[in-house]
Amino acid sequence: MTRNEETATDQTHEVVVVGGGPGGMTTALYTTRLNHDTALVDRGGGRAAMMLDTHNVIGVTEENSGNEFLQTAREQLEYYGTELYRDTVTNIERTGEASPRFAVETGEQTLYTDAVMLSTGFNDIRPEPPLPRTGRGLHWCLHCDAYMFRDESVYVMGHDEGAAHVAMIMLNFTDDVDLLLREEEPAWSEETDELLRAHPIDVVETEIDGMFRDDDDPSWLGGFEFEDGTTREYRGGFAMYGSDYNADLADGLGCERNDDGTITVDEDGQTSVEGVYAVGDLTPGNNQIPIAMGEGAEAGIGIHKSLRTYPKPLDELSTDTEPETEQASAASADD
Ligand SMILES: Cc1cc2nc3c(=O)[nH]c(=O)nc-3n(C[C@H](O)[C@H](O)[C@H](O)COP(=O)(O)OP(=O)(O)OC[C@H]3O[C@@H](n4cnc5c(N)ncnc54)[C@H](O)[C@@H]3O)c2cc1C
Repeated sequence: MTRNEETATDQTHEVVVVGGGPGGMTTALYTTRLNHDTALVDRGGGRAAMMLDTHNVIGVTEENSGNEFLQTAREQLEYYGTELYRDTVTNIERTGEASPRFAVETGEQTLYTDAVMLSTGFNDIRPEPPLPRTGRGLHWCLHCDAYMFRDESVYVMGHDEGAAHVAMIMLNFTDDVDLLLREEEPAWSEETDELLRAHPIDVVETEIDGMFRDDDDPSWLGGFEFEDGTTREYRGGFAMYGSDYNADLADGLGCERNDDGTITVDEDGQTSVEGVYAVGDLTPGNNQIPIAMGEGAEAGIGIHKSLRTYPKPLDELSTDTEPETEQASAASADD
C-alpha cells in the first residue's frame, strides 16, 4: 500500500513507531527507506539513553554515550524523512475501519495508521539507596559491563534466582564476588541455594548503611558500609530486582504476554494482534542494542511485506489490465 495523497492528512501514516530506542528507530529506518510514510513518537529517556558508554556495537566506539548514539540515529531518520514527535503515546485504539486500522493518541494529537510498532522497552526496578551512579559502580547489564570487572571486587545486589545466577556467572570474570541480600529473604529455589553455597561467593545478609567513593576517581564507587559495622570495597556491581515492562499500550490492544512479562511475537515481530508489532527489550531474548536492532530490522521488513502493493497475484493483475486489453483489441479490429 502506498499513502493515498488525497485522503491522507499530516496525522495519517502507514507506520507509527512508539518508542525511539535502538529497536524502534531501526524499524523506522527500514520502513522509511522501504518507502512507507513512517512516524516515530518518543518521550525520551529509556535504557539506551542511560548508557554512559556504548559497548558491543560494532562500528560504534565506546566513547559514544547512549544519548550521542541516539542523536546520530535520529539524524539518520530525519535525513530520510521519518516524522519524529517528542511526545508520549497514552492510548492506542482500533478504528474499526479496514484502513487506517489504528488511532494512536498522544498528549498533543491523534495519529492514524495501519501498522503499529511497540518498542517501549522496560524500566529496571531500582533498589533503595544508597546507590552509586549508573555506569560508575551501579550496573544493570551483565553482557554490557561484566568485561570491565575482570579481576575486580564485585557485588551483586538482589535475592532472587536471577541475582544468584548473575553472582555465579561473575566468577567467570573475577574470583571476588559478594551477593548482597540487604536483609531480604532469598527467593531462589533449594537447588539454586545448594549450588550457590558450593560456589566461592560471600552471601552478605545485612543492610547497607552507607557508601564511599573511590580515592583515585571519586566519580566511581569505592565500597559500601554495612549496618553490622563492616566495610567492603567494590569496583562496582549489578542490581538484580527485575524489569517493569512498558506494556500498558500492548495490554490495551489485547496483545498476549509471556510468563516473564514480555510480549509474545512471531519471527517478524508481529504480536498476537494483526498489525501490531513489538521488538527490543519489550520482547523475549537478551537485552542488547545489536539484538534490538536486529529485531527492529526483521520487523521493518515484515511490515513492508504486509503493506506493499507489488508483486500482485496474477488474477488481480489481469483484472487491472482487462479494460486496456479490450480497447487494444477493439483498436486493432478497427485497423
Ligand atoms: C545502564 C545501561 C547500560 C547499557 N549498556 C549497553 C551496552 O553498552 N551495549 C548494549 O548492547 N546494550 C546496553 N544496554 C541495554 C540496551 O540499552 C537495551 O537493550 C536497548 O536500549 C533496548 O532497546 P529498546 O529500543 O528496546 O528500548 P529502549 O532503549 O529502552 O527505548 C525505549 C523507548 O521507548 C520510549 N517509550 C516508552 N513508552 C513510551 C510511550 N508510551 N510513548 C512514547 N515513548 C515511549 C522510552 O522513553 C524510550 O525512549 C544497557 C542498558 C542499561 C540500562
